Amino acid sequence: MPANPALINRQRPDLIICGAGIVGLWSALKAVEAGLTVTLIDSVGPGAGASGGLVGALMPHQPSGWSAKKALQLSGLLSLQIEIAALEAQTGLSAGYARVGRLMPIWTGAERERHATWSEGARLHWPQQCVWQADAALPSADWLDPAAAPLGVAHDSLAARLEPRAMVHLLVKALEGRAKLLFGSAISAISADCSVLLNDGSQLDADHVLIATGINAFDLLAPLVRRTTGVGVKGQAALFRPRVALNPDELPVIYADGLYVIAHSSGMIAVGSTSENTYADETSTDALLDDVIMRARAVCPLLRDSECVERWAGVRPKHESRDPVVVRLPEAPRILAAIGAFKIGFGVAHVMAAEAVGHVTGQGGPWRDVLAAGWRG
Ligand SMILES: Cc1cc2nc3c(=O)[nH]c(=O)nc-3n(C[C@H](O)[C@H](O)[C@H](O)COP(=O)(O)OP(=O)(O)OC[C@H]3O[C@@H](n4cnc5c(N)ncnc54)[C@H](O)[C@@H]3O)c2cc1C
Repeated sequence: MPANPALINRQRPDLIICGAGIVGLWSALKAVEAGLTVTLIDSVGPGAGASGGLVGALMPHQPSGWSAKKALQLSGLLSLQIEIAALEAQTGLSAGYARVGRLMPIWTGAERERHATWSEGARLHWPQQCVWQADAALPSADWLDPAAAPLGVAHDSLAARLEPRAMVHLLVKALEGRAKLLFGSAISAISADCSVLLNDGSQLDADHVLIATGINAFDLLAPLVRRTTGVGVKGQAALFRPRVALNPDELPVIYADGLYVIAHSSGMIAVGSTSENTYADETSTDALLDDVIMRARAVCPLLRDSECVERWAGVRPKHESRDPVVVRLPEAPRILAAIGAFKIGFGVAHVMAAEAVGHVTGQGGPWRDVLAAGWRG
């Protein structure tokens, strides 16, 4: 008896997406919206990797030395607000998103000059309503200690924040009933003909496969492209419950020399992060986080008597180009990779996802070449 073609189609999706981090989740959503049948696989579950963290800063690149890469990120930061609002309306959930801006304490005359350059760059490249102010007013002394900003503060009004876990949850909710979700199954290998081998020995086939497994993408890709294309950079962060109620939408993100302090919509304050190129354990926290917390408390008086409720560590995927990359593998054209957003993943994952899905549907978007540029084959 001939096989039932309808059944075969249901069993063999158009697209298998490997990894349910922020990149894989956005990709699954964009794919079902484009009418594709999707199976989304994660060895643990949504947000089990770098996307399940605490920080959630959406920080624009400095607006000087303008490039296609910076234009892509700007486009992502601007469109994200609209896309999140639509998902929140659809699901009734919140991602904790707000465009709160960013305060940057100034310590030296040289820094002040750089801020003047970035201010001019923002005027040239950003939309009119978003400004980089080199000489902004100091906020409340509870939020930013004036002693931590001896030459004042700069402020940008484009920066935003969201709660990473709430964002992940929002995407999972938006996907409910629209994609096959296979959580708790690790992928051990992917072959060039789009067979995905799971570690329980089973095999799934699809017309296309998208690899979005964060740092583990570099291992899954290596046999296909015969080299390693990126590394992991560990980060540690912490979450605090302040003793007083905050008005978080009134508090800009503080960014001081690599340190973030973020008042989340939940009323909690996140602090991060370390950047560790070598590490023995991906998930442990240690004295390096203690140092971040000490620096955060020096900058933000509200944190000094706040209770630390969580310490967290994860590993960011860093592609060798340092850029986010979406590529159709030349060696296996039905396999795609969406990897390496490194420190800006939450602001660009939806753009990466749209381009990854465009490779499958044949609808190339405006950022295809920019996202492929970092791939050296
Ligand atoms: C401390 C820290 C702070 C950060 N702060 C920010 C920030 O403020 N703003 C920002 O934009 N970005 C930030 N980032 C970076 C951001 O978290 C990443 O860019 C983003 O989460 C990467 O998403 P991803 O989907 O590529 O990978 P991941 O989130 O790591 O997702 C990969 C998924 O694949 C799954 N997986 C892995 N291997 C397999 C396998 N073999 N089979 C099946 N599934 C598998 C994992 O379980 C995981 O769920 C931070 C990262 C860290 C660590």
